[in-house]
Order: sequence, then C-alpha cells, then structure tokens
Amino acid sequence: MAVPKSKITKSKRGMRRSHDALKGEAFGECGNCGELKRPHHVCAACGHYRDREVIVAVEPDFDEDEAA
Ligand SMILES: [Zn+2]
Repeated sequence: MAVPKSKITKSKRGMRRSHDALKGEAFGECGNCGELKRPHHVCAACGHYRDREVIVAVEPDFDEDEAA
C-alpha cells in the first residue's frame, strides 16, 4: 500500500534498505585444477565439470596431416 514519503521515518527507511545490498559473486575451487570457478559452471581454465567430464579439447595449432 502506498504511504506518503513524508510519513516514512529515516529509521524505517533504513531498516527496509538494510536488505538491499548486493552480495558478492559466488565462486568455488575447481576440483581438477584448483582454479576459482563459478558454481554449476564448467571450469574456464581446464574444461572440467564435476571432477570428471572434459568438455574442451581443441589444440590451436593442431596439424591434421600429422595425426593421419
Ligand atoms: Zn579447472
């Protein structure tokens, strides 16, 4: 319900705003490489997720003739 601005004391306004602060971004250690990573996200450093799945494995200077 709307309340006139002049009726809200500085104290009551402050009490309401005490919950307004943003929390810091969550993070955790990668189980594989120990790098800090976001929870429920693939590790950006090594491409592991939940200690086992390798997601990324692309060599930038991979030579196809060498592999064949
Ligand atoms: Zn990692």
